[in-house]
Amino acid sequence: MSSFRLGDKIDCAEGSCLEFKNHRAVTDSMLPQHKKGSAKPYSNVLNAFLNSDGGCLLVGISDKSYVKGIHLTIYQKLHMRMAIVDMFNRFQPRVTKDLYTVSFIPVLRPEGEYNNGEERLEDDEIPEDEDINRAHLLRSENPCWCDLQAKARKELCVLPPAYVVKISVKKGEQLYKNEEGLQFRRGHSSNMQQKKAIW
Ligand SMILES: [Zn+2]
Repeated sequence: MSSFRLGDKIDCAEGSCLEFKNHRAVTDSMLPQHKKGSAKPYSNVLNAFLNSDGGCLLVGISDKSYVKGIHLTIYQKLHMRMAIVDMFNRFQPRVTKDLYTVSFIPVLRPEGEYNNGEERLEDDEIPEDEDINRAHLLRSENPCWCDLQAKARKELCVLPPAYVVKISVKKGEQLYKNEEGLQFRRGHSSNMQQKKAIW
């Protein structure tokens, strides 16, 4: 799929190999306190896919299959990739890069949207030299510099492009634990935590 359209309902539902999320918390440590009960991080479902038949997580799609998109600057995209790699590197055993892919699929906007003079989309952002090597705040629920920068621009009505983030995972050759030492398996459209063996 090369693009999505904002507000469309996509013609597939969550299932054993597909899950939707509409937040940016890769791991539990990135979930804000007030969301800890209701939202689940990506790591549980990606761990479950690895330990089952593989699968695909689409971020920026609602539970009911509607395209929402997530606005990301180039720095926030880099941040997200780094957080995902950092998460897989902390799985036990470490997940090698041949087992997963991360891609950003553009979300197209209905004609005329953001062109009303109040909001401006910045589709052609070129990185600033001083920002290229700045360290990102991973593993934290607190906003990173890249989030604060995006927020400041949003207040000036400048929005970065929106994306659906697609994270595909292959079936692992062995069983993995996530970065918190928990192990999941995929049910029909849920992630079941595995109890420790008692023998
Ligand atoms: Zn960042």
